[in-house]
Amino acid sequence: MTTARKYNVEVLFTGVPKKSDFKIVEETLRAIKDGEFLAEAVWLSVDPYMRGAVNSSTIGNTMIGEQVAKVIESKNGNFKVGDYVAGMFGWRTKTISNGDRVRKLDRSIYTDDKLSTALGILGMPGATAYLAFLDICAPKEGETLVVTGAAGAVGSAVGQIAKIKGCRVVGFAGSDEKVQYLKSLGFDEAINYKTMGSLKETLEKTCPKGIDMFFDNVGGEFYDTIIPQMNKSGRVTIVGAISQYNLENPEKGTRVNRSILGKELTVKGFVVYSHLPRWPEAFKTMGEWIDKGQLKYNETVTEGFDNMFDAFAGLFSGKNLGKAVVKA
Ligand code: NDP
Repeated sequence: MTTARKYNVEVLFTGVPKKSDFKIVEETLRAIKDGEFLAEAVWLSVDPYMRGAVNSSTIGNTMIGEQVAKVIESKNGNFKVGDYVAGMFGWRTKTISNGDRVRKLDRSIYTDDKLSTALGILGMPGATAYLAFLDICAPKEGETLVVTGAAGAVGSAVGQIAKIKGCRVVGFAGSDEKVQYLKSLGFDEAINYKTMGSLKETLEKTCPKGIDMFFDNVGGEFYDTIIPQMNKSGRVTIVGAISQYNLENPEKGTRVNRSILGKELTVKGFVVYSHLPRWPEAFKTMGEWIDKGQLKYNETVTEGFDNMFDAFAGLFSGKNLGKAVVKA
């Protein structure tokens, strides 16, 4: 008899998610059938989107999320014992899967020391950075990019890709330690938005030639202030709005539509799961950049399945530098 532990969502989140919104429960797993395998979590992901993806249908069910897991029993020829996979198994220690929508990890890329990157730089956030930035911002050498949430999993990759493309990069992050990190990655300007004072004046000072591209992870005041400072024909990629996720009452923002109109801006949202067939293209190029030392990444590791909530909550208090992952 095999048992698994998992986090059930007990109540809908209001404001910042609370530990009491979850309950860790034990589950007895049935034997696997033909075509199935049993996998044990090795690395688990916590991501900002999880905040918004919990809804009434999630209540009483396992918390959603991706993990890297090791196949420990198998009756599926495509997944052998010892293989590593990435799948949306949720916050749980063991999972029975039939292999549907599961990525088998190529061990020549995802070596023992790089397994967790399947959840980060060579996983969902990396694909977001690469595809959303290159497709929508369409960078040209010498142009200026502003990126918010710059020291996170997506933002830190976006800034470096822009540097590889010959752009000037200005990043905003929430601590002096993060600012130092961004400078070490080659960002031209890195600003601690919590201590900077006026955002408008900071942008005028750090972007003397205006802003050609804006990659937004944060939304809110950043969006309202940056849009009017964009150059003619600027491109804006919206992948996130983390400043808004925990608000109990939506904020009213500045009306920026006249800037979008007058400057003929392209403003486009992007959801990485709509682009699954193109993830390998992103990982191939990014893997090459990593090997050449042009693209660096950091992971903030929380030890232990029992501490998953703390890792998740840390996303909203800025605890993570780079990708937040949990080692089971
Ligand atoms: P991060 O690794 O950037 O972690 C979240 C970071 O957001 C925190 O470390 C914190 O950094 C910052 N943050 C938290 N609260 C606030 C706030 N109120 N105001 C400003 N910054 C805040 O997460 P990801 O890189 O994984 O994701 C970044 C964004 O991209 C998120 O909005 C996420 O939802 C979105 N996303 C969208 C995808 C898509 O397909 N559309 C795919 C993947 C991610 P700091 O200390 O700097 O404040």
